[in-house]
Amino acid sequence: MEVDVHVSCEDLFLGRHWRVCHAYATFVTQRTKAGKKVMLKPLAPHSHSEHLEYSLAAERRRVRMLHDDIIRDLLASRVVEPGVDVQEKAVSAVKTRVESVELVLPPHANHQVNTFGGQIMAWMVNVATIAASRLCQAHPTLRGIDMFKFRGPSQVGDRLLLRAIVNNAFKNSMEVGVRAEAYQEEGPNRHINSAFMIFEVLDTDGKPRLLPRIRPEPVEGRRRFEEAIARKKIRLDRKYIISRQQAEVPLSVPWDPTNQVYLSYNNVSALKMLAAQNNWNLSSEKDQVRLFTVEHPSMLSFRVESEVDVPAPRAFSLLSELSTRHLWDPHYKECELIRRVDADNSLYRVVTPPVRAGAVGSSTSPPGGEGVLQDFILLASKRKPCASGDPYVIALRSVTLPTHPPTQGLTRGEVLCAGFTILDTPPDKALVSYYNQASAELLLPYISTDMAGLSSSFYHTFCSCRQYLTHHRLPTPQDLSLQRAVSSESQSSESDTERLTAAVIRTQL
Ligand code: ADP
Repeated sequence: MEVDVHVSCEDLFLGRHWRVCHAYATFVTQRTKAGKKVMLKPLAPHSHSEHLEYSLAAERRRVRMLHDDIIRDLLASRVVEPGVDVQEKAVSAVKTRVESVELVLPPHANHQVNTFGGQIMAWMVNVATIAASRLCQAHPTLRGIDMFKFRGPSQVGDRLLLRAIVNNAFKNSMEVGVRAEAYQEEGPNRHINSAFMIFEVLDTDGKPRLLPRIRPEPVEGRRRFEEAIARKKIRLDRKYIISRQQAEVPLSVPWDPTNQVYLSYNNVSALKMLAAQNNWNLSSEKDQVRLFTVEHPSMLSFRVESEVDVPAPRAFSLLSELSTRHLWDPHYKECELIRRVDADNSLYRVVTPPVRAGAVGSSTSPPGGEGVLQDFILLASKRKPCASGDPYVIALRSVTLPTHPPTQGLTRGEVLCAGFTILDTPPDKALVSYYNQASAELLLPYISTDMAGLSSSFYHTFCSCRQYLTHHRLPTPQDLSLQRAVSSESQSSESDTERLTAAVIRTQL
């Protein structure tokens, strides 16, 4: 299970309140004495925000599980150039090495005599802080921790051997790695935990000070030095892609295999958050096709929705294949599959006619002038529901691809957040909703006639979508063989997930 932890401080006297830190903790249950897995009772989210967090947690889990693979791929793809930044005058990392031993006593353990996870974390931070202070000869400030991973339990009577060293120093921050092992009088050392901590040294104005460079220690140092660079890149990707609000993530984020996981997360979570807004206003309704809008200071979002007489999984499989969308959407003039990244993510190039009033595929860029075609490079990410009551999701956002620069004679359009959610509605029907979010000035002229209930193109496109789905309600033999191929593809990725689950954090809290 994932637990979201926020720590904040308040000063009642001054009436101030500030956030100190934020973390996600993953807990797993221990097996029974007979070695059986314990199945947790499913969590039932109730409120609006609980539902949203519930479904975003599934996205975070995906990212967590791929973390080690991403580092491996980054190093293999030489994104991290070996040897970069090692300077002659650099400080030898060996000089920052710290080792300490703690004896686990009863106050350090819970009622099952397992050492408190928090206690181990505190000891690890202590040694890391000492290692960091040896480099900067000042008091370092802990800025972030790249995952504490509990690999095995430790108990009262164990000695905990804690070792830390500065792995790399960047301009204003450094990464200190810590490894915790447990041992008894006899027997081998057991690996308990490893974590990477980011420290800064603040000057009197509270600004991070420039830090000396590091020369890696000769044995494992070079590898750790490079891995620290890979972790820094991941943190930056996370910061710029995941933790920002959707509207703040630049549209021109270049897609590459190393940030694919974050872009995919951003794509899906943005659509889930848009769908979860509770201030949607019904603007117009015609033949059970409803148009909703929600206005933000500079953004406008709309949702067109209708129930279709098609089972949700079938509607999902039909709508997630963008290359067949021209069959029902006149705004999709051409659609080329550029790359099937994995079973759930694909990159497409879509060509649309010049944006006219009411185009469902409206973009955030201005219509490129009369008669000018537009093209889009889209990342399409699809997800099945994580629980009953959760919709299928097909999310779309623009990315840039060095292999697909803007085409001459066409305007490059950009999609901020768009896509479908498909909710299973018994018996065997689906509630299909199409979303699009864009800047208000650009979108409003195109949908105002629809909002006023006067027409039009949204309604027609959506009816055509409904017709297409109903017409293809039953899969053809061709579809079935394609489905089998895709499901065997996704099964292999599920078995990867299983493999990674085995390595998930064991906790002793
Ligand atoms: P890795 O070597 O792949 O980083 P480990 O779990 O072995 O993974 O170690 C985690 C971190 O702990 C290392 O990156 C390093 O910073 C620190 N560390 C490991 N072994 C030692 C050691 N003998 N002395 C000082 N620090 C160490």
